[in-house]
Amino acid sequence: MKKSQYRVVILGSGPAGLTAALYASRANLEPLVVEGGGGDPTDVPGGQLMLTTDVDNYPGFPEGILGPEMMDRFRRQAGRFGTEFTSGPAHKVDLSQRPFTLTLDDGVTRAETLIVATGARARWLGLPEELEFRTKIGGVSACATCDGFFYKNKEVLVVGGGDTAMEEATFLTKFAERVTVVHRRDTLRASKIMQDRAFANPKIKWIWDSVIEKILGGHGRGVTGALLRNVKTGSTQEIAAGGIFMAIGHEPNTALFQGVLETDDLGYLITRDGTTATNVPGVFAAGDVADHRYRQAVTAAGTGCMAAIDAERFLH
Ligand code: NAP
Repeated sequence: MKKSQYRVVILGSGPAGLTAALYASRANLEPLVVEGGGGDPTDVPGGQLMLTTDVDNYPGFPEGILGPEMMDRFRRQAGRFGTEFTSGPAHKVDLSQRPFTLTLDDGVTRAETLIVATGARARWLGLPEELEFRTKIGGVSACATCDGFFYKNKEVLVVGGGDTAMEEATFLTKFAERVTVVHRRDTLRASKIMQDRAFANPKIKWIWDSVIEKILGGHGRGVTGALLRNVKTGSTQEIAAGGIFMAIGHEPNTALFQGVLETDDLGYLITRDGTTATNVPGVFAAGDVADHRYRQAVTAAGTGCMAAIDAERFLH
């Protein structure tokens, strides 16, 4: 860290944080980006796209691009105009007075404005083999919009019983031969309208009272299925599947701001009046940390741009 005070500090280096950095640096605000490191082993600089393979739905890349390569490009573009980077995590943030005080890995610094772009993380089952299937082997995902296309004519599983699970299962029927929802209870949490839509879809099958014990498959084969356990009877069964979509919820990375920045019932930061402003003047929120609805790289980048413009106007 080169300076003891910055005009703009950006927490997070996913599409939202790096787009904010691009705009802030182009406005000569010389921002500092605190990269990655929210505490989870999968919180890496670059955000959730670092854990993705092909990104085919980001405009401007007609042939598609690998997630990590895209984030490298975002980072280089932000760096070209004078963004400074430092490694996270941020340990403490004091927003009680301006300039704000941030305790980072390499010391304490101050920020006239702060852009929170710390993202959200999908919840995962926590199976020992899960991370490798997500990142190296392939076939396990938490985003049907991103990855559904790769499962044309395959059988896939969707784990969960909430609105996301219904939405993902319904969406996946556009591609997959069959979608089986695996839920740990015998009733769904999802809203009635989403349930009804899923129940009416002939391509969706249901396995109740069951959890995944083990993901089956391996290098070169990807996912081949799962070992399921019925939580009521204890019996197990193997089911064949070419892909597994986890839809058991997301968690925004807001631990640093508990009790200070306003959140909604689900823990996401609340922004005001169609801007990225939070309840603390000078603090702005962008990307998935303030968005449980869209969760796309392109929407995160859009709100990152908005946050930089909002911060610039605030400083003036
Ligand atoms: P959610 O409502 O929290 O549902 C998570 C589901 O995953 C629940 O069915 C839960 O089971 C299951 N689950 C959690 N941990 C599990 C585990 N370790 N193993 C197996 N199953 C597990 O999350 P969500 O579906 O992502 O929805 C989040 C919020 O966004 C909700 O308010 C939802 O209404 C909203 N949303 C709205 C829309 C829409 O309106 N279009 C779309 C998506 C999401 P239990 O039921 O047994 O707890």
